[in-house]
Parts: sequence; structure tokens; C-alpha cells
Amino acid sequence: MQVIGHQKEKELLSKYLNKNQSSYSFLFEGKEGIGKKLLALYTARGFLCEKERNFGCGECENCRLTDDLISNIYEGTNLSPNPNIKLITSENGRDIKISQIRDAIDFLKLKSKEGKVIIIENAEKMNTEASNALLKTLEEPPENSMIILTTTNQNKLLPTIISRCYKIRFNPLPKEEIYQFLLHKDFSESDAKTFSVLSDGSLSLYSAVKENPKIYQFAKDLALLFLDKNLRIEGIINLADILDKLDNKDLSIVLQIVQTILHKKMLKGEFDIDLYDRLLKEYQEFEKAIKAGVKKKLAVEGMYFNVKGG
Ligand SMILES: [Zn+2]
Repeated sequence: MQVIGHQKEKELLSKYLNKNQSSYSFLFEGKEGIGKKLLALYTARGFLCEKERNFGCGECENCRLTDDLISNIYEGTNLSPNPNIKLITSENGRDIKISQIRDAIDFLKLKSKEGKVIIIENAEKMNTEASNALLKTLEEPPENSMIILTTTNQNKLLPTIISRCYKIRFNPLPKEEIYQFLLHKDFSESDAKTFSVLSDGSLSLYSAVKENPKIYQFAKDLALLFLDKNLRIEGIINLADILDKLDNKDLSIVLQIVQTILHKKMLKGEFDIDLYDRLLKEYQEFEKAIKAGVKKKLAVEGMYFNVKGG
């Protein structure tokens, strides 16, 4: 697994790592799906590496164990991961609790030759008690330890936490880098082009589509039905049947893709601007309906007929 892009962020990290401090605290901030966690894991690899710092030699026992952890996370393998790294995440969108932070701090204090690293993902999910507990450790970090916090919005963290970390601000990924990445993932040139625009600087959309590859095709099919000059009653009924089986998250991704495709078409004059405006309004109604528990099939059909029918 390779870190895509982020050359400046890597250079800045290298500078910090080359200071050879006995303990480090980092805050990685940037939008979802741009590789903060992966780069955090490589930073941990560098810190724990037996030969050199930076991002690790890739050959020593510790690097290999970190690579196994990375492979477990990104490739779904089941290897024995590096025991010197602990990941703390919010479960099902809930708060990160003080018990999780206490466990992590105890782990950080364990003596080991290589050191210990904790990575707290979506650190803004820490509740007040958890934040305060972490703050004490940031003030006096254990010897030979590294703490990495990742967040999409540092303003949701305590200012006292922010001020005790080296901050690395992650820029969105350039379209061209996403395009190249997708070509390597067996996307056709034309799909990679469309998709790199849809991706809006992050790989979140790619991850969703990787989990359920049909999503992209459904979105293209639905966009075609909107683009068709005629009302395609049978087409929408069939497609709505299929979309009905998606979960809410995937269905919402399908519709986001449809919006982006139609937005591009509208800018090129290939989709009527009034229809597009109506689509945006109907999409809000659609979301409300789904939240209110309306059957997805009916909500999709309703949106289509309202947009096309005027
Ligand atoms: Zn190494």
C-alpha cells in the first residue's frame, strides 16, 4: 500500500522525525479519505524502525510487522501485526471514551526497546473526559513514545491539545494523482477521468465503490435516465427496484455521483439547467423522505418523476 501524493506533508514529517526526539505528538488534519491514517502508520513505522527513522527501512523486523498491520487494515489480511502500535477509533460513530484513552496511555507507558505508538483516529470524537486524560499525557509524554491524532477538523479539539502537537495539514489530493491512481486500479481512461473529478480530492468515493463496485454503474444508469429526452418509465421502475436493495449510505453515494455527472453535463449544455435545479430540490426532499422511512424504491421513483415531469 502506497501513500498517494502529499509530498510536502511527507517532507515536513521527515524534518520532524530527523530531530530524533525521544517522544513525539502529531496532529494530522485534512478531509476524509486522503490518506492521513496510512501516513500515520508509515510515520509509526519510521519511529519504530531498528535501522533508521524517517518512514522506516522496510526490512527490519519492526518494519515488517508494521507492514503486516498495514496489510491487515487495507488488504484485509490476518497477519500478526506490530505489537508496538495501537489504533484507537470511535466505534460506530460513537464518542471515544476515557476508558479507551486510559488503555492507550497504559500501553504507551509499557517499556520496549523500539518504543510505542498510539494513533487516535477522528480525535474530534473524544469526549471531554477522554480529551482531558489525553492532555495530561501530551504534557508529559512517556519516553520513547509517539502519539498521532487524526482529524477532519482541528477546531473541534481542545486548543490545549492542538498547541502540544506538531501540526501537519493535509491538502486534498490533486485530480491528476487520483486519475493516475485509478488507472493503476484498472479503471478505463474515461472512467478514471470522470471519477477523479467526482472524487473531490479524496479517495472516500473510491473506497465506497471498491466495496460495492456496482454503485458506479448504477449511478451512470440513473444519470442516463435523467439525460434521456423521453420519460423512461420502465427503466426507472427497474432501476429503482435494484437501488431499493442498497443501504442508505451506498444509495446516497449513487445520488451524489449522479448529481456530479449531471452538473458536468449541465455546464456543457447537455442537461437542461431547470431540470438540474429541480433535481437539487428534489434531492433534498428525497433525503428527508429516506430519513422519514419512506421506501427507497418509492423515493427514487418519486424523485425521477418530479424532476422529469416538472
Ligand atoms: Zn526498519
